[in-house]
Amino acid sequence: MTSIRYVRVRPANASPPHSRPHIFPSNGPRKEPSLSSPLCLLARKCRLQLPNLQTIPLFHVERLAPSPSTRYPSQQPMSTKSAQQAPTPPGRVLAIVNQKGGVGKTTTAINLAAALALDGLPILLIDCDPQANTTGGLGLKQAANRISIYDLLLGQATIAEAIIPTNVDNLALVPGSKNLIGANLELVSQDRREFRLRDAIQPIRAEYPFILLDCPPALDLLTLNALVAADGLLVPMQSEYFALEGISELVSTLDRVAQAFNPTLGLEGVVLTMVDDRTNLSQQVAANLRDFFKDKLFTTTIPRNIRLAEAPSHGQPVSIYDPRSRGAEAYIDLAAELLARNHIESPGAKRRAEEAKQQAAAAKSTRKLRLWPYNK
Ligand code: ATP
Ligand code: MG
Repeated sequence: MTSIRYVRVRPANASPPHSRPHIFPSNGPRKEPSLSSPLCLLARKCRLQLPNLQTIPLFHVERLAPSPSTRYPSQQPMSTKSAQQAPTPPGRVLAIVNQKGGVGKTTTAINLAAALALDGLPILLIDCDPQANTTGGLGLKQAANRISIYDLLLGQATIAEAIIPTNVDNLALVPGSKNLIGANLELVSQDRREFRLRDAIQPIRAEYPFILLDCPPALDLLTLNALVAADGLLVPMQSEYFALEGISELVSTLDRVAQAFNPTLGLEGVVLTMVDDRTNLSQQVAANLRDFFKDKLFTTTIPRNIRLAEAPSHGQPVSIYDPRSRGAEAYIDLAAELLARNHIESPGAKRRAEEAKQQAAAAKSTRKLRLWPYNK
């Protein structure tokens, strides 16, 4: 793909999207996570039991070696400077992450990607989960000899070889594979094991305004690869009593990844999923999360909708399976909110604006002018 068909619109006085403040410390020398970081303070405000961040182990690597320089041997020397000084890539990589299972990560990955793609934007979806639900949900069966993200992570294929088209216009996929379960172990001894995905997608970043990574429900080496490759995190959270459980763990992990590997990593937003507007509980959870995440919580919420649950068994995103359903409309709204936050106008939005303008002009030309006084 050579031409880029989307337009980035930014008011003259607005700061560029990639330079807006990040949640995680991105400047200065490497330092230990602080309990006074904005998210930690917010966590305390929400009366979360936040454990001492310095005692939280970061994946297995924390336990491998005692000092930072030996702890992360694949990054020689460990420096966050080069990443900060690197030019901002034009495509935005978003990791859809939450270590809790069944919160709607895959549903969000498929349907958000499809909503963006059907609005005319070229989108790449990468299935980083050994369950390969994103791949299956888009109608692709398991295939033993298909190149997948597993080959990409192990350096056995390039990203160009791994990308396949889907039944959705403008939506491309790097399929997952059940072999990924083994990749966690196989990668441990490999060079630059945390940077495998980041390095692999670098050549094609400019071709897509958004690259979405569907992560497994674990904070393992696969998720770490996604966090290191990402510019921002999109966190789906189920609207339930236990929604805030595990946030402190997620936040401290992100803090540590940001400091050790990816200083420009930020929180893109949190989206509430499986919302049932009729219950008080849903409203309370939404209010709690709004308190906690402030404007990082998307105003769009995803309702509990049976069409969203049915669509994967038909191998289709909900916008194709049932475009008029509440689920389809919610993901279209979420896509629009994401584009607005990133100051991007899609070809679809541009077309709709032009049509509205033409309709307004046509209505104006057919409107009769009435002269005062009316009855003469
Ligand atoms: P895992 O952690 O196992 O990867 P996940 O976070 O990716 O899970 P999904 O697979 O997207 O979660 O969703 C879990 C289940 O909930 C699926 O059966 C899915 O169809 C259903 N589901 C997700 N979102 C909704 C929704 N808004 N309304 C109804 N059902 C939903
Ligand atoms: Mg999933």
